[in-house]
Formats: sequence, C-alpha cells, structure tokens
Amino acid sequence: QMKNEAKIKFTELAELDKKHFLHPSTSIRQHVENGPGFIFTEGEGIYLKDIRGRKLIDSLSSLWNVNIGHGRAELGQAAAEQMSKLAFSSTFGGNSHEPVIELAKKVAEWTPGDLNTTFFTSGGSESNDTAFKTARHYWKVKGQPNKTKIISRRLSYHGVAMGSTSATGIEPFREFTTSLAQGFLYVDSSIESLRALIEEEGAESIAAFISEPIQGSGGVNLPPKDYFKEVREMCDKHDILFIADEVICGFGRTGEKFGMDLFGVVPDIICMAKGISSGYAPIGGMVISDKIKKELMENYAGNFWHGYTYSGHPMCCAVALKNLEIIENENMVENVRNMGAELQKGLKYLEEKHDNLGNRRGAGLLGAIEFFKNVETKERYAEPVSAKVVAKALDRGLLGRSIVYGGQDTLAFAPPFCITKEEVGTIISIIDDSIAEVKKER
Ligand code: PLP
Repeated sequence: QMKNEAKIKFTELAELDKKHFLHPSTSIRQHVENGPGFIFTEGEGIYLKDIRGRKLIDSLSSLWNVNIGHGRAELGQAAAEQMSKLAFSSTFGGNSHEPVIELAKKVAEWTPGDLNTTFFTSGGSESNDTAFKTARHYWKVKGQPNKTKIISRRLSYHGVAMGSTSATGIEPFREFTTSLAQGFLYVDSSIESLRALIEEEGAESIAAFISEPIQGSGGVNLPPKDYFKEVREMCDKHDILFIADEVICGFGRTGEKFGMDLFGVVPDIICMAKGISSGYAPIGGMVISDKIKKELMENYAGNFWHGYTYSGHPMCCAVALKNLEIIENENMVENVRNMGAELQKGLKYLEEKHDNLGNRRGAGLLGAIEFFKNVETKERYAEPVSAKVVAKALDRGLLGRSIVYGGQDTLAFAPPFCITKEEVGTIISIIDDSIAEVKKER
C-alpha cells in the first residue's frame, strides 16, 4: 500500500518537475523525455533516501559539498534559532551582526598565513567573481590600472557567473554563453607554458592567476610536483596575485585544512564555498591577505563597490559556524586522512584487479581512477566506460560520478568526512562488481 502511494506520488511530482523546473547542467530535452531519476526526501550520513524508499550511497557528497554528511539536525537547529532571533540585517555600509563576526573570526583561524579578512557571498561563483574584481581594484589602487588580465588553467572549474564562467577551462561551460568577459587567458598545467604566457602578454597587463589546488569537476587532477611552489615564485617575481579556488578542497577535503597546504604554498586570496557549510546553507567567501587589505585601506578612501544582498546572511553564517564546530569537535579532518588512505587502498585494489584501470590519483577523501583500453599506451575506449560503470553502480545502490571532459574516462570519489572503513569497503566492492558486469557485457 505504502509503496503504491509512494509510486503515485513520485509520478505526480515527476510530471510537475518536467513541466516547471529547469535543471542545472542537464539536457532539457532528455529531462522532459525521461523526468527525474530520483526525488530525494531524506539523508543520513553517507546515504540519501528517495521518495520511493530507495537508499543510495552519496559517493561524491552530492556536489563535493555535503562534507560532514547528511542529516545533522544541529545545523537545522542553528538555522532555526538564528532565523527566529534575527532573520536578516544588512551588512552594507558597515553594520554587522554576531554570526557574521564570529564566522569571519573562525575562517581566519582556519586560513593560513596572513589571510585574515573575509568577504562573504552565497557560493563559489560569486566568490571567484569577487576575487577577480578585487584583484583588478587592488592593482588600480596601486597605480597600475592596466593590470587586469586573469590567467586560469585548462580543465579548471570556477563557476558560472560571468567572470567565473570566463575563467572556467572546461569548454562547454564557456561556449554556452557565446561571448565572455574580457581579459581572461587560459594556460595548460606546465610551468613553462605559464612562463611563456606571462612573457607573451606582459606581466604589466596581468592581475591574477587562479587555480584549484586539485581540479575537481575537471577530473580530480593533481598538478605536477612543485608546480604551485613555482607558480608562487613566478607570481611574486611578476607582481601577479595568486588566487586559490578552494571551493572543493577547502575545510578538510584533502586531509589538510586547505588544498594549497598540501603543496606548502600560501596564496594571496582564497575563495571558498561548499565545505564551509557542508551544503546546509548557501554561503561562500573570499579571504584576502593583510597585505592586500592594507593597500586597499591606506591608499584608497572610496567604497569597496561590491556586495551581494546576502553577503554575510545571518542564518547562513550561523549554519557555517556550527558546521565548522562539528568538523573541529569530531576531528573530521583526521578521519579524512585515515579514510582517504582506505579509499586509495581500495582504488589500488581495483587498479591491480582490472587491467583497464590506471592513473589512480587523489588526496584525502578526493580520489579518482581512469579507464583505458590499454593502460600502457594510454589508448582510450571509443566510448567512455566510466559512465556505464556508474549506471551499473546505481543499480547496486551507489550514486557515482563519471568525468569525461577533455577526452578522459574517469570515476571520481568524494564521500562525506563521516564515512567509516566499512562504508569505504562497500563503495569499492560495488564499483568492483559494476566493472565486472560491464566487462561481461562487452
Ligand atoms: N569553484 C570550484 C572549484 C567548484 O567546484 C565550484 C562548484 O562546483 C565553483 C567554483 C562554483 O561554485 P558555486 O556552484 O557554488 O557557484
């Protein structure tokens, strides 16, 4: 009876979804033909539950963001308490409120070096756009208004606002809008290419370089060894600001506080979102160094002419504070390191067992592995295998992610920080069985 009712409810909702909801990063045609795959109603730990009662492992923490895991009622309580007391007050012009002050202080405790001042946004795209505008403003204040260009890397993902789309190195996102913001340059991941680009364009025209510590959406791509150390040196030498897009890596995902900590590098600006609230509320931020702040303060008397209505939204700040408190109190970054080692062990097992897997990579609870027709020659299959494996894994109760941008054939993993050793084992064995099934069908 219950099951039947749930089915009817699902069908009704699916029809409305098809009719009225435009899904992000989804084919409108396919969606209107097929409708939603799942309509989720609940979550707990690493699991999501669908309206028809199906329980799925959320192996990517949804969008690499539900870091503490689903179903932590404390965050709901923090939100309700804050909204009952003060739902909103403006931070424009200089007024403030307690949660935004406390969160700004907490973020400064987490961030490295002299990065101590945060501008808040509603997400990663806004944070990156904020950083680009801030970098240009900084050079203008320093008497170099022609330092405006922003360099980003191929296969990077920085978001979908006009600036962040323009910086994004995954081409379909850029092509969607036909005309981009001016002054954005792309470079591959070798330090020689960056050196050549700076020489060609002239350092006097370049405001900033932006990079994710480990590229997420582009395929969990780690940079060449010493890459960021050399980038840091090059940026210092040429007066170029170094922006770290820590939207995925920030707040523990890699087993360090921030992804750039893995490489021993302190950027000038850190952009954050996702993990700051584990997805329980939409909030992001841009953190600037004391050096940048001092310049903007001492040599410029006008406004910081940039702000979102929801810059420092009280409820979002209260939720983010509670989220960071949980990560700290439950030693979750340590668990990321321990379970990250388990995840890599599991991926190594898969790599050794299946002769079409290679290029295993990752850090902390960020991991990936790739399919090749021939691992040695790096020859790929005509049709990606990773998507087929993800489809088989779904039948076995695992919501997975395959990445095929740039011709790759990757399975990506980024489970919640609360994952146990046993649950890592379940993910690996589901993938193992799914690969075997795809092989059998070939
Ligand atoms: N930067 C990185 C590295 C991301 O992974 C994302 C989102 O996936 C963004 C920026 C954009 O963030 P948002 O979707 O919150 O605007």
